[in-house]
Amino acid sequence: MIEKYGEIIGESELDSVYKIAEKLKGISVLHVNSTPKGGGVAEILSKMVPMMKELGINTDWKVIRGDSEFFNVTKSFHNSLQNGVGNLPPSAFDIYNKWQEINSSEISTDYDVVFIHDPQPAGLIRFKRKGKWIWRCHIDISNPYPPVWEFLKRYIELYDSMVISSPVFGRDDLKLQQFIIPPSIDPFSIKNRDISRFTVERILRKFDVDPDRPLVTQISRFDRAKDPLGVIKAFKGLKRHIDAQLVYLGSPASDDPEGNIVYQETLKAAESVKDVHLLLLPPDSDLEVNAFQRGSDVVMQKSIKEGFGLTVSEAMWKRRSVIGGNTGGIPLQIIHGYTGFLVNTPEEATHYLIYLMRNEEVREKIGESAREHVKNNFLMIRELRDYLMTFALALQ
Ligand code: UDP
Repeated sequence: MIEKYGEIIGESELDSVYKIAEKLKGISVLHVNSTPKGGGVAEILSKMVPMMKELGINTDWKVIRGDSEFFNVTKSFHNSLQNGVGNLPPSAFDIYNKWQEINSSEISTDYDVVFIHDPQPAGLIRFKRKGKWIWRCHIDISNPYPPVWEFLKRYIELYDSMVISSPVFGRDDLKLQQFIIPPSIDPFSIKNRDISRFTVERILRKFDVDPDRPLVTQISRFDRAKDPLGVIKAFKGLKRHIDAQLVYLGSPASDDPEGNIVYQETLKAAESVKDVHLLLLPPDSDLEVNAFQRGSDVVMQKSIKEGFGLTVSEAMWKRRSVIGGNTGGIPLQIIHGYTGFLVNTPEEATHYLIYLMRNEEVREKIGESAREHVKNNFLMIRELRDYLMTFALALQ
């Protein structure tokens, strides 16, 4: 699998990855997160873990468990860390601590490197017995709700180092070393590899979407940070000028208990708008995601808060023009006017939707630059190399 990257990045780049891996051969690495499927972290781990194994690193991936009370607490942490506003359930901190203890008794963490993803399992560090522990933060922690951040910070400070996705998330109230490693996509996966126009059209038709009419798509969990209502509003604006269709494809994630409520809100907002398709598909609908991204004239990722937004790179790799929220890791991917367009409001999104829909030539030009930008910066081989570097530094 790794060999295949030679075709894209060249043999000498690939050699540099093998060279670092050679030094790390035989070490053991554990990844821990909070869901096996759904969302970007599970997406990355499902591809990254086999690649690390291929390089001779003994890599395991374990998922913490919890009840609905625990996942309500961690979702409220997630929201309050990204929004700066708190709305915690009662006894939130006690519930969080209780489940860290339960998981620590069930998950062996006896590895050379333990990579803990996001806040949900961050408290496992209290039970550290050996190895170097790295906290991999995938979310926006630049303006957190102080009580939640102060609570988490006591754990984070116990780590050996930490990884964030963008320089804008760097924190000067932490003493530990902070590495900046943006996420990445697997160009060879079912979700991202080339598929024929025939397959694209067949899948669109299966969901009653007309491949011959203009199409806008957003692929995101039903989460307010992804601004589904803003997407509907922007599409309504477009609809006054162009007879387009909208697909909002969302799938559930087991660690996101708010999905259904937000889906209902979106359904209501879309009620009176023609040609809106809200699709709830299983989280492993990779071929469908591929087809909808490829089959779209414009892809949206109108997030209000975003850690990185893998969906942006996924669509850019497919030479799509993406309109993305000007937040978090999206501006790393979208260079405004060159590899896509950044927006702050639904009205701005409508403006660029109309502009792009009317200009096929611009869409094609942006699509080419977008593909090149992803090729140079956001393919998994680069993230793999960066992770290997953090292991090498941690174990020095
Ligand atoms: N995704 C999917 N089906 C969906 C919604 C999302 O397969 O219905 C995938 C999407 O293609 C991407 C990941 O889930 O690979 C979402 O990652 P992102 O960083 O965009 O957002 P997150 O969910 O992690 O906040």
